[in-house]
Order: sequence, then structure tokens, then C-alpha cells
Amino acid sequence: MLAIAWDVDDVLNDLMRSWFEAWRGDHPECAMRYEDLRQNPPEALLGISRAAYLQSLDRFRLERFDALAPAPEVLSWFELYGHQFRHLAITAAPLLAAPASAAWVMRHFGRWIRSFNVVPSPRDGEELPASKTSKGPASKGEMLAQFGRIDVLVDDDPDNLAGARAVGILGVLVPRPWNPAWANRGPASALSGALAQILSLTGSAPAFENGSIR
Ligand SMILES: [Mg+2]
Repeated sequence: MLAIAWDVDDVLNDLMRSWFEAWRGDHPECAMRYEDLRQNPPEALLGISRAAYLQSLDRFRLERFDALAPAPEVLSWFELYGHQFRHLAITAAPLLAAPASAAWVMRHFGRWIRSFNVVPSPRDGEELPASKTSKGPASKGEMLAQFGRIDVLVDDDPDNLAGARAVGILGVLVPRPWNPAWANRGPASALSGALAQILSLTGSAPAFENGSIR
């Protein structure tokens, strides 16, 4: 049975959109829309510092992550095809946000996703003990390589897919405004093309013809 690794933020959920809508509510002078966020992290576009962005995002994760809705298209995909694969979740998040993220993943996707993995995103003042003695996985690709066979990584960050490809894992790029797949997203749903691509890459459905297979 093939194994799929799922990024959490902006794949299983719509974290950036939800955070940005909350942030814009506190910054009515901001004229940007979600679709204008062509960089992630977006602090330069918003005219704030990296520290201010991370502080706001981390607070949002702690206070609001619990209430995030799962991406409906992804949930529908799991309902239809989830049983055909093994699944794990892999997120690059600060450790302080990992408990809420793990609980959220298991609550909404626990029927299919059976393990939750985190590559800690460093934060000021947070010490990672593993780095003192041995170097833990520094990227999703490195961590996935430790699992044995993982066939596909679904992620919104092209760099993560490049790292996975380096260890022989196929990549599916979920369209978001900050990545190149956004321009080629299908008319019906931003995620439907990427979800179809998973099936074509794994030979589970006729080839997906409307997007590039990475
Ligand atoms: Mg992501």
C-alpha cells in the first residue's frame, strides 16, 4: 500500500487565509487580499518585521487553531480515496504549536492519518535539546527519509517538495498564492487539481491532464 505524507498548514487547513483575515481585522489600513500574498512568510508584503509576523501567527495558532475548519476538498478526497493509502502528517511548526496541531489533525483526519510528525521551526528563546547532542532532521525530506518508504509528499512549499524529491519522494504542490501552482489552479477549486494529481501519480486514477506532474 502506498504511503502519503501530508503537510498540515495550508494543505489540510487554510491557516494563512484564516490568520490573514484576523490580522487584517486588526489592520484596517491594509488593502491586500489573501490572493495578493505572493510570498510566504508574507511579512515584507505586509510591512511588518519577521518577529512581529511570527508572534502574531504563533498567538493565532495557540488561540484559534482549534477552531480551524479542515479543507473541505481534502476531507472529501479522504472520504473517497483515503482507504487506498497509508497516511502520515508532517508539519514544520514551532514546538509550542505542535500539541494543538496534533490534536486538530487527529480530530479531523484521524480516521486515515495515523501519525503526526513535527520538524520544529526554531523560535527565539526556545531551545531544542536534540541539537545539543545529535542533529535531528532539519527538513521534511530528511525526516521522511527516516521512515522507510514514503511515496508522495503533499505540501504548499516548493522547497519542501524539492527536499523530498532529493530522497526519492514524489511531490504534489497544493496551489496557494505564494507558489507557482496557483496560476494553474483549476476553476472549480484551488485544491481539486492537486488532489487529482495524487491519484494519477500513484496510478490510482487516469492521468491528470490539466497540471504539471512534478
Ligand atoms: Mg504548509
